[in-house]
Amino acid sequence: MDIPLISGTTCIFDAVGVGLGPFNLSTAALLEPVEKLNTLFFEREKEFQWHSGLLFPDATIQVSFLKDLVTLADPQSRYSFLAFLFANRRLYRFINANFTRVSRVEFNQYFRWVANRLPNLEFGQEVHAISLEDKSFKVLTARGQVRARNIILGTGLQPTIPKCAVDFIDATTQKTLLHASKYLHIEPQSGGVSVAVVGGGQTGAEIVQHLLSSPDKVPRTLSWISKRSNFLPLDESPFTNELFTPNYSDYFYGLSVQDRVSILAEQKFASDGISNSLLERIYQLLYQAEFLNGSGRCCSLYPRCELVGITPSTQNGWILRLHDGFNCAATIVEADVVIFATGSTYKPLPALNPIMNRMAHGDHGFIVKDDYSIQWDGPQSLKIYIQNGAKHCRGVADPNLSLMAWRSAKIVNSLAEEYIYDIAESNSVFDFTRTADTQRSRDNDGKSDGDFSQAELPATRGVRRRHVSARSPV
Ligand SMILES: Cc1cc2nc3c(=O)[nH]c(=O)nc-3n(C[C@H](O)[C@H](O)[C@H](O)COP(=O)(O)OP(=O)(O)OC[C@H]3O[C@@H](n4cnc5c(N)ncnc54)[C@H](O)[C@@H]3O)c2cc1C
Repeated sequence: MDIPLISGTTCIFDAVGVGLGPFNLSTAALLEPVEKLNTLFFEREKEFQWHSGLLFPDATIQVSFLKDLVTLADPQSRYSFLAFLFANRRLYRFINANFTRVSRVEFNQYFRWVANRLPNLEFGQEVHAISLEDKSFKVLTARGQVRARNIILGTGLQPTIPKCAVDFIDATTQKTLLHASKYLHIEPQSGGVSVAVVGGGQTGAEIVQHLLSSPDKVPRTLSWISKRSNFLPLDESPFTNELFTPNYSDYFYGLSVQDRVSILAEQKFASDGISNSLLERIYQLLYQAEFLNGSGRCCSLYPRCELVGITPSTQNGWILRLHDGFNCAATIVEADVVIFATGSTYKPLPALNPIMNRMAHGDHGFIVKDDYSIQWDGPQSLKIYIQNGAKHCRGVADPNLSLMAWRSAKIVNSLAEEYIYDIAESNSVFDFTRTADTQRSRDNDGKSDGDFSQAELPATRGVRRRHVSARSPV
């Protein structure tokens, strides 16, 4: 059967984006002024929402608000966070409020404000299949198909559930055994029952804080379990923040696979630790419960404990078997509700199955070129760009907001085959280029294949490259 074109889409698009989280929204915002590129973005949800299952009223972003959708690639863009504040007549109020960090609720408002201004975003359209036909990609959604010369994948990460629990999670258990990403959607009962939170990162901490600070939610007993040796802080010091810069991303890209793997393990707390203010808040809540408001010691902490088994209990709850890394003993925890704050990982989109065997894989994920396109054996003029799926070759900042605008600008430049955005020059306290130039692309396909490759341009610091305004592409 011939599947109809989605109404109004008779052309072959220069690019079709799949998924609209912040990363593809950033790319769409930076593409908007580029008149020569005709693009369309699909999102399966009915409207833009930023991790709505974890959008706690008091949660804040863990980066500067300058790391918004566009500013670090185009400070004059009309889609910046400051432009949002200005347009909503709250810039003075925002300044006077003097927040140390911006609320995630407000950043979500900002993202939605941008999404409402871009004309080429289609919500409520899940992409089911991407195939190659007649020298272009065919992108199939529930409502029809479109054609595209390039694909931009921005479908985010998938929740990770400990292996021992996977078989127990289904629609019948979702109110008592759930991944944190669904926490506010499901709102499991917690007041007066026993709850276990598995995971000692920021998300686990946010849930623990939420449970302890809402009177109707405080559990009878709360067990907080973490594989890590303690409930450890996020490293937000300036030298660590250098890992979240374009220079470092390029440097990391030039390292060998072995070096990348060991460095990523070393840098875990640069991205996965708990913000200091939240650690303090939780500590204070535990203090208040134990000494000030008569609740007693309701929370048991299990650092360096790994969940190794789970079974249903006779009381409709769960029995968790932990391996205690301090004394190698087995510990049992019982809970009515178990919440897995055990992170997320990149999993290839099933919609890519028709072309998956043509895309190059390494041990840790797709082989990704300098311009964030995946190496593949299809026509080299057709590209599949990937966002949030290149941590193994781009480093710890890949899933983070910090490099969102820069990466989007790289993708836009690659699509346009010209420097629409001048992202070449940035400064680092470290002299990363020294090593990177000698090792670049040892494990990637860094060879010139005639494509526009931003890596092939001179990397010498201080050499100013031609700036081409985003407003007037030449
Ligand atoms: C709770 C939370 C807070 C975070 N806070 C910060 C922070 O403060 N600072 C920071 O730097 N990083 C933060 N991060 C990390 C990162 O910035 C976010 O995860 C960010 O949302 C990643 O954006 P994304 O676009 O890759 O993916 P997502 O936001 O996950 O968006 C992907 C989108 O793709 C859609 N999709 C998936 N499959 C399809 C399909 N087949 N067809 C159509 N659409 C599809 C999904 O519905 C989804 O809307 C946070 C992460 C979480 C989970």
